[in-house]
Amino acid sequence: MAAEASPLAPEWLSVPVDPARLDAKLWAEDVDRGPDGVLQVGGIPVTELARQYGTPLFVVSERDFRTRAATFRDAFDDAFRDLCGGVDVFYAGKSFLCTEVAHWVREEGLGLDTCSGGELAVALRAGLPGSRLGLHGNNKSAAEITRAIDADLGRIVVDSLQEVALVGDLALQRGRQANVMIRLTPGVHAHTHEFIATAHEDQKFGLSLTTEQGPGQEDGGDGDASSPAARAVADALAHPGINLLGVHCHIGSQIFEPEGFELAAKRLLGFLAGVRDRHGVELAELDLGGGYGIAYTEAEEPRPAAEIARAMAAVVGATCRELGLRVPRISIEPGRAIVGPTTFTLYTAGTTKTVRVDAAANGSEVAVDTSVTHPRRYVSVDGGMSDNARPVLYGADYSAVLASRPPEASPVLSRVVGKHCESGDIVVRDVYLPEDTGAGDLLAVPGTGAYCWVLSSNYNYLTRPPVVAVADGAARLIVRGETEEDLFRRDVQREPALPATDSGAPRTA
Ligand SMILES: *Cc1c(COP(=O)(O)O)cnc(C)c1O
Repeated sequence: MAAEASPLAPEWLSVPVDPARLDAKLWAEDVDRGPDGVLQVGGIPVTELARQYGTPLFVVSERDFRTRAATFRDAFDDAFRDLCGGVDVFYAGKSFLCTEVAHWVREEGLGLDTCSGGELAVALRAGLPGSRLGLHGNNKSAAEITRAIDADLGRIVVDSLQEVALVGDLALQRGRQANVMIRLTPGVHAHTHEFIATAHEDQKFGLSLTTEQGPGQEDGGDGDASSPAARAVADALAHPGINLLGVHCHIGSQIFEPEGFELAAKRLLGFLAGVRDRHGVELAELDLGGGYGIAYTEAEEPRPAAEIARAMAAVVGATCRELGLRVPRISIEPGRAIVGPTTFTLYTAGTTKTVRVDAAANGSEVAVDTSVTHPRRYVSVDGGMSDNARPVLYGADYSAVLASRPPEASPVLSRVVGKHCESGDIVVRDVYLPEDTGAGDLLAVPGTGAYCWVLSSNYNYLTRPPVVAVADGAARLIVRGETEEDLFRRDVQREPALPATDSGAPRTA
């Protein structure tokens, strides 16, 4: 079955040599194919999960989540132990959060980062102590801040000069001190495969290390006492309602190379040396954020956590020695890298269509014969942009496999699309699927743990799918799916309701 590559396929996509083989980097550790060729997780066939819970369905491997959480915790702890006693890992709850997942985070000994009152409520509901929680956000409400202060949060990450005053004043009103970190923009912005360093960052988060008047020092930026960052630190140190722990940065997401993290760490340490020189205070903590990349397709090669941790520890250690700075306690905030690969989405295929496309229309840059067209097979599934908005939002790529039976027919270039009334409603843009994939087949899309369920919507009045966790060979619901009743829960019905026979036409007296 040596199928030929389609000229419509992106360069990175290869024709599968063995379509039944699973690419390990895309899947949870306990996902494989059973002897009958059916995809299974923890030994449970997906056909069984679909029968019991329906589709679309998010399937999360609890064991894999716990393994990834523990791997980050241990890898960073080991790398930084001699420098600062270890690292605090805060799982970024915005990537995926429900009460059960917050329990896993608590049991694995991680902290949890929230960025709204709602996320904070979930974390508290799972019994996470305030001391292990963080609150982010560029526009926190007074109510959210007050809730965080009352829960004695380990850290409120302050994002503006106004917020320094607001958090400090609210804490004083409650007769407390708020634990505060200040979010800085180190002028490093990471894209998927590279990072760029700029003097100023044109985005809403954080406080700049340089003054508005012009670029500061290209590396370090520590001498700039009038930068927003320096002013925020001065204000925070002076405010009796604030216990200033340190500074924070988060340079982006889906990052593969350590250089961006390293440059950010250097600049923030330079800033901390400046704070020491100006105020005689060595701030105790430095948070380097999240953003560690994962594989969504065969094209991405994520680095092991231990490798990133060692590279970062080397830079932090060397920079602190250079600056004569005590190494601050380091924290990190991975979200995607912990939960992303733990989960796949199970869909049922419906209609299929084959369209013919010429390679020029497909954006090919090599000279092509436009008189020759090539097939692209569309496979529709029973979900789409309402359960995975990332392809529409970010042009994100995914992959998919035929899950309910062994893939035997020859692979053809396919596009998995949803059932929404939008032509952009794409689930997987380019994937080779067996040419007989069709109605009733189950498709599994791996890597949907992060930023999928949390971004789900009721667009076209679809119900949001349930989430099932698999552990120890058993599956259990951790978020139930919505019903039509849920859809109408907030929809205000006329009183009295129209009789069922009423045509709805205006009545004449
Ligand atoms: C989103 C976010 C994270 C997590 O990013 P990932 O790419 O999921 O690791 C961490 N910290 C902050 C402040 C964030 O906004």
